[in-house]
Amino acid sequence: MSKINIMSENLANKISAGEVVEKVASVVKELVENSIDALASDIRVELVNGGLNGIKVIDNGTGMDKQDALLAFQRHATSKLLKEDDLFFINTLGFRGEALPSIAAVSEVDLITSTGDVGTHVKIKGGKFLINEDSDCVIGTTIEVRNLFYNTPARLKYLKTEATELANCVSYLEKLALSYPKISFKLLNNERIIVNTSGSGNLKKTIHEIYGLQVSSKLIEIKASNDDYDIYGYICKPEILKSNRYHMTTIVNGRVVRNNEINKAINDAYYTYKPDIKFPIVVININTDPTLIDVNIHPTKQDIKLGKISALTDLIMNTIKEALYNNLLIPSALGRIEATNDVFTKNEINSIIEANIKEEQKEEQTELNLFSIAEEQVDVVKPNEEIKRIKLFPVGAVHGTYIIAENEEGMYLIDQHAAQERINYERFFKALKESKTSTTRTLFPITIELNASEALVLREHLDFLNSIGFKIDEFGINTFRVIEHPTWLLQGYEEESIRRIIDLVISYGNKFDPDKFREGAAITLACKMSIKANMHISHEAMSELLDELVKTDNPYNCPHGRPTMIKFSNYDLERMFKRIMN
Ligand code: ZN
Ligand code: ZN
Repeated sequence: MSKINIMSENLANKISAGEVVEKVASVVKELVENSIDALASDIRVELVNGGLNGIKVIDNGTGMDKQDALLAFQRHATSKLLKEDDLFFINTLGFRGEALPSIAAVSEVDLITSTGDVGTHVKIKGGKFLINEDSDCVIGTTIEVRNLFYNTPARLKYLKTEATELANCVSYLEKLALSYPKISFKLLNNERIIVNTSGSGNLKKTIHEIYGLQVSSKLIEIKASNDDYDIYGYICKPEILKSNRYHMTTIVNGRVVRNNEINKAINDAYYTYKPDIKFPIVVININTDPTLIDVNIHPTKQDIKLGKISALTDLIMNTIKEALYNNLLIPSALGRIEATNDVFTKNEINSIIEANIKEEQKEEQTELNLFSIAEEQVDVVKPNEEIKRIKLFPVGAVHGTYIIAENEEGMYLIDQHAAQERINYERFFKALKESKTSTTRTLFPITIELNASEALVLREHLDFLNSIGFKIDEFGINTFRVIEHPTWLLQGYEEESIRRIIDLVISYGNKFDPDKFREGAAITLACKMSIKANMHISHEAMSELLDELVKTDNPYNCPHGRPTMIKFSNYDLERMFKRIMN
């Protein structure tokens, strides 16, 4: 019992200095990471009221002997950390060791642990040992934290509501499960299972266990390498999108990390496959030599810096782009309808938890079956070249907006504006990238009057504009005259197109980037030059539009990422009309 005194003095200053424990999730994080370090293959987190009234972590790891169990509550006592530089090189999850004493100083901790020999039971409250006795000898550790912050009211008031604390724990554990597919994780709140992974070692199955069948049946596997990096994981088809970037999970050498450049590369790879405000579900494992990881970043944070980052972001972006290009299918009507409820945004956590609880009971018995269905149901992937040979026959149009088409596979609804926008976008984008552009003189010179600062910007880019076929002269003070334009401009829209191009150049200001400009110009022109909704077009025009659409690089999305077409397969139709019942 003499050890009590050594501890509490060290703890007091740690608590005042430390930010180690600030919410339920940070307690869960520390405890669960200890379990992982103890090589547990099964980790169960039990919360009472979102952890506000109790946090218990049970693992089947190696456990601690009596000496280690007591030392665990002293600062810097753990054997985990050697020196800070070793953080990423050693196989533990970071420098903690301080966490357990910190937690014990502001709560009541009950620990039962055993290495298989005689077990140890320790109970500490506010940093003082209350119980220290032998216990039974099941290998592993059970640790329970109650009355968190009972002696630090200032901290206590920072705890959020049950729902928020729970949501944070769920998010944390889900990410962890994705980075450790070999470990089975369970999270229960008030005895109801919320997270449950099997520890199968199969990443796809883990994604299925976390996101459900709708997501797991729309995954594309990716795998690639360059000299320094290996990447492996799954990306979702653009039919399944989330309203926040939270579901882009990147794991570097086994650790979930956050890196804005990587997130941007992932998001950019989906460019024009999805609306900008929606984000994909992606799980990517990145493996590299640890020397490329910047260890100077605080290890309790998820943000890290990586060396040779542009080679890595290129690798990620190109791999995802290629995977999307090779795997796109027309979104099925049923898939889309079911996929519209965007689960797991934090605001919805309550309803999700409720829903999960209901589903969970059903799912538990059929879990294995479901997974095998998930594997079977994965759409037959057709190479894009094959898709381009499909033929769509127009039947008619709804409100002069949606074309109805058919072929032997089923029925299609096509948004005529979005479809033509895609066709025009690709055409304009190609034309803007041509090194030689055939030009034509403007019928009447178009005069553009600008203010001084706009003129300054435009003047700087006259050479660039000239190189893409717009020949422009200065014509008096802050006035310009367009003499030639590329022949690819749509007839009748020449002047409007020219004005839009110039507006765009000016809007980029000194952030002008030729590649971004080409993309931006192609999108703007495509949108303005395409048939609008509520415009009736002839059967022949529809037919032509559909033929051109299937020939594009991505016939399924307009350049803003909206869908161009929705498919009702024969099977979907039969199901909808209950001609078949499964
Ligand atoms: Zn548009
Ligand atoms: Zn659009």
